[in-house]
Amino acid sequence: MSATEIKKWKLIGGRLCFDLVNSVSGRIKQNETNSLDYKIDADKFESFAHLVVWGKATGILNEASANKINIFAAQNDKAAKKILQRVQLLRESIYKIFVSIIEGSEPLPEDIDLLNNECTAAREKQKLFYDSNKFFWKFSPDIAEPESIIWNTALSAADILVSDQINRVKQCRGENCGWLFLDTSKNGSRQWCDMKDCGNVAKVRRYREKLK
Ligand SMILES: [Zn+2]
Repeated sequence: MSATEIKKWKLIGGRLCFDLVNSVSGRIKQNETNSLDYKIDADKFESFAHLVVWGKATGILNEASANKINIFAAQNDKAAKKILQRVQLLRESIYKIFVSIIEGSEPLPEDIDLLNNECTAAREKQKLFYDSNKFFWKFSPDIAEPESIIWNTALSAADILVSDQINRVKQCRGENCGWLFLDTSKNGSRQWCDMKDCGNVAKVRRYREKLK
């Protein structure tokens, strides 16, 4: 992936599933007491083509598989739209599960079910590989199915959910941002999706309040 693509998509989540969650500009709370009641602000996946570009930027798809998937989409408009819809639904379920965990409440069963269904589909497509004295589960390296974006992100979310890293998942404190990330800072002090973005807005606000 090129540096400009990483910059453009702002892949700062630290894990694939959070970069998926962060494929919207932000989430605007509709209800102060219920974080799961929100509206999406600017979905960056305006079309299936955007999803393929994102898949390439994140490294899920290589050039060849992205080309094959674009050809598939050109010939199967309805199927491509359905996959995009599935990605968007998965994205929101992943978001809601992690927000519930961050806030110390129970994730909704329907979100767990949705993630589970996508994980089951993903597992079916994985194979056992052996390399450098180790076995591991992997998708075929030349996989060019449009669902591969769904499979990879669903398993990425599940991996975090069953690991100790679940305690390191945080939500940006920026207003109407809602982005998620894995806090890998030594002392677990990261508060913002991006210091230059939400972090800076907060800094400017604190400075202005001081002057009042
Ligand atoms: Zn933010």
